[in-house]
Amino acid sequence: MEIQYFEFVKHLLHFKRTVYLDNNATTPVSKRVRRKMNQALANHYGNPSSFYGIGRKSAETIEQARQHVAKAVHAAPSEVHFTGCATESNNAVLKSAAAHFYPRKKKIVSTPIEHPSVMNTLAYLKTQGIVVEYCLVDDKGRILLAELEKQVDDDTFLVCCMLANNETGVIQDLAAVTKIAREHGALVLSDCVQALGKIPIDLHAWDVDYASFSAHKLYGPKGIGALYVKQGSPFTPLLHGGHQESGLRAGTESIHNIVGFGAACEDIEKLLAETGKIRALKRDLVQRLKKIKPDCVINSPDNETECLANTLSVTFPGVENAGLMGMLDYRGIAVSAGSACSTGEDMPSHVLKAIGLSAQAARETIRISLGHETSASDIRYTTKVVEDYVKGRASFVNMLAPAQLNENILFDENTFILDVRPPNDRERQKGLPNAHEVSPLHVERYLNQIPREKQILVYCPGGGLSVMISYYLKSKGFKRITNLRGGLDGWRKRRGDLYEKYAGQNVTVLEPDTAE
Ligand code: PLP
Repeated sequence: MEIQYFEFVKHLLHFKRTVYLDNNATTPVSKRVRRKMNQALANHYGNPSSFYGIGRKSAETIEQARQHVAKAVHAAPSEVHFTGCATESNNAVLKSAAAHFYPRKKKIVSTPIEHPSVMNTLAYLKTQGIVVEYCLVDDKGRILLAELEKQVDDDTFLVCCMLANNETGVIQDLAAVTKIAREHGALVLSDCVQALGKIPIDLHAWDVDYASFSAHKLYGPKGIGALYVKQGSPFTPLLHGGHQESGLRAGTESIHNIVGFGAACEDIEKLLAETGKIRALKRDLVQRLKKIKPDCVINSPDNETECLANTLSVTFPGVENAGLMGMLDYRGIAVSAGSACSTGEDMPSHVLKAIGLSAQAARETIRISLGHETSASDIRYTTKVVEDYVKGRASFVNMLAPAQLNENILFDENTFILDVRPPNDRERQKGLPNAHEVSPLHVERYLNQIPREKQILVYCPGGGLSVMISYYLKSKGFKRITNLRGGLDGWRKRRGDLYEKYAGQNVTVLEPDTAE
């Protein structure tokens, strides 16, 4: 009896525990940064463009923050411009360079493992006539410099190479990339978002022309980025309007966010000093995972100087990442599959594809990114949960393969189909017949309307979001939960015949219970 009670309490404690291992998606805002931001909100409300004292004070505060950011990346303060986010910084550079050089020069050479804010902007520029070529990378994501040398030619106006990758943590030899670009008079853009606060950055020494940064990856606020434009490198603003940021980025400055970015950068030395501790935790994690599943594959580079200390991409053959992530979430642990932007879709990450993983291996891969608050006990707890799952000891959500979803299940009276798709997907395509639509953001407000005696079939577009919600429902005492693996997209691909015949029929939109 006592043992049972102890197990029950342990079970409850597990649910309470939160372990955040997705620091490459974003980081918590540090206490010091929050304090500085609160002070700025309270005291610096003046418009920095106004000439009177209150405005001048705001302008001065911004200049102090700029100095902190510039110092952190070895740039002159006049070369650092605040933006709304790193996505904006990347867009601004790519579009500006294209406008400046095209049609005199036509080509951009990029790595194939850039963040979507670069990849999707390049895809857009292609529609405008720009030639985009992707340089090969090896199985760890390292750019093949000999290949790059062959690709960059006199028609190339820009080389685009991130400093550190968000999914695998691979670090590129940026100085070598710049040297190759220079030989052909090409400019260089480097997305340094994941590197700032994790490795030393010296923009002047590496001689890059443009670099992008984002405060929320180093314990600063979200919604504030920075753009480095080397003195003399051509740049046309993306936004036109007022003359803020030396005329390069119009719009009244977000003073508290800028102060937060500056404060985060003041802590750079401290962050860098903790790299050794974080690396040791990652090493421990790798050893534990290898013990649990000896055939697991580490996709991040082994060589310490070539990989961010905090980032681990790992493939567990035979273990679908959606189910594993759902279980980890159920036990309070946050990790990601690929990048945050692609989570929820059934598309293997372009980064994992580029380093040679098959679509199946990509679906068996998770990214674990440690942070400054990660402890040895977090690592032990996480590996224990992984072990329980991989060895089949955890309580599972059933997984239904898309091909198995047939008319018997769709029209079974004892099956309750729960549609947790986001609104944009509901606009994009019709859903399963007999489904009950709920808002995926507030599933807790529909619990009374979901029958406990029935089999609940949960589905979303790609099978990722629904597995999280499936485990949530399990934690709320629903016993018979099944997740549609591959989601609606997967089912549509495998059973296009049934989709054509039944999609969208007899759908019920549930109304949420009023919030307390
Ligand atoms: N570049 C990289 C490598 C990133 O990891 C991210 C964020 O996920 C971005 C750019 C975009 O940054 P932001 O969220 O500031 O737009």
